[in-house]
Amino acid sequence: MAAENIAVTRETFDNVILPVYAPAQFVPVKGKGSRVWDQQGKEYIDFSGGIAVTALGHCHPALVETLKRQGETLWHTSNVFTNEPALRLATKLIAATFADRVFFGNSGAEANEAAFKLARYYACKKHSPFKSKIIAFHNAFHGRTLFTVSVGGQPKYSDGFGPKPADIVHVPFNDLAAVKAVIDDHTCAIVVEPIQGEGGVMLATPEFMQGLRALCDEHNALLVLDEVQSGMGRSGKLFSYEHYGIQPDILTTAKALGGGFPVSAMLTTHEIASVMAPGVHGTTYGGNPLACAIAETALDIINTPAVLAGVEARRQQFTDALRALDSELDIFSEIRGKGLLMGAVLKPEHASKARDILNAAAAEGVMILTAGSDVIRFVPSLVITPEEIDAGMTRFAAALRRVIAA
Ligand SMILES: *Cc1c(COP(=O)(O)O)cnc(C)c1O
Repeated sequence: MAAENIAVTRETFDNVILPVYAPAQFVPVKGKGSRVWDQQGKEYIDFSGGIAVTALGHCHPALVETLKRQGETLWHTSNVFTNEPALRLATKLIAATFADRVFFGNSGAEANEAAFKLARYYACKKHSPFKSKIIAFHNAFHGRTLFTVSVGGQPKYSDGFGPKPADIVHVPFNDLAAVKAVIDDHTCAIVVEPIQGEGGVMLATPEFMQGLRALCDEHNALLVLDEVQSGMGRSGKLFSYEHYGIQPDILTTAKALGGGFPVSAMLTTHEIASVMAPGVHGTTYGGNPLACAIAETALDIINTPAVLAGVEARRQQFTDALRALDSELDIFSEIRGKGLLMGAVLKPEHASKARDILNAAAAEGVMILTAGSDVIRFVPSLVITPEEIDAGMTRFAAALRRVIAA
């Protein structure tokens, strides 16, 4: 039977997909800009951006054009051969950042896995095999491989899978004294998200980030920034470390890098990269021409003053609307985050309602996210229009009123 002849609905999910997700009750079938339509033709405004991925909206004409052009040219060669799109994308990422070497993967977890392995390997080669301690943070999220869930700071994601990689220490986020208390000369890396996304949209303070940089320098440890969610323009700068006046040793990016096409990158310096050699690490698909061509186009568009400067104005429109809603409903304790990575924190008396609000929002025709149990998260396209924000916030307001009245 031809695949298109099989009728599928949301119910099919429960019968065919591993039950690790609890998707919304509708099935999106089409997207354009910040609008999405489901199987019944109902329209949604998308404030979820595929979890901070579709930074240029759905089916951006330039990305579609590149997808078609490269799709008719060359998709995949493996890393036994290099390719022009990967070389161009790496050159542009290097020109735009602290870095001088790039490793490509296909997901955030893969970029982080590479980063953590590189940090350990560098310490092993340059210092000692015992310099393996990784310092990470409570509520951090770094992906779903066993190493990345173990460095992540939510044990519910790493428990039950057998022995975890050892020598990983977790301390509270934004608590420099706690880091000082555990860092030593056996520490190979501090791993941190400048803005914790999944952990509740928590912004690192400048003192914290600068303090981590200083502690790493003092102990010959590497500062690894996970910018999988906070990078690619989301904060209003290409990468959010630029807000802090520091440079990392290793940085990972994924999510918005391909604007919706799977691709990730780990960036580092020549000095750190120099411990690597052919065969030490790798991936079949990483750096494939199709993904890299699309990411190159996404980077060309995002890394422009027009798009980056537009982030702050859009944030303002969101926060103005959220504050107006709060004065009406007295529901938020805080609007936080940076740029278009925004969290509206529910007051304790409404803290359990995040999921209900998300469902009510979908019913009203707006896609939002939560982060933890009590934070409503907005990570829309960086080029969402003022009209789309307006329309979406009107629908979100209707959803909030309905949940609060209930
Ligand atoms: C989403 C995310 C990851 C994991 O990325 P995947 O592509 O799902 O593997 C890692 N780190 C952060 C900060 C993320 O937000």
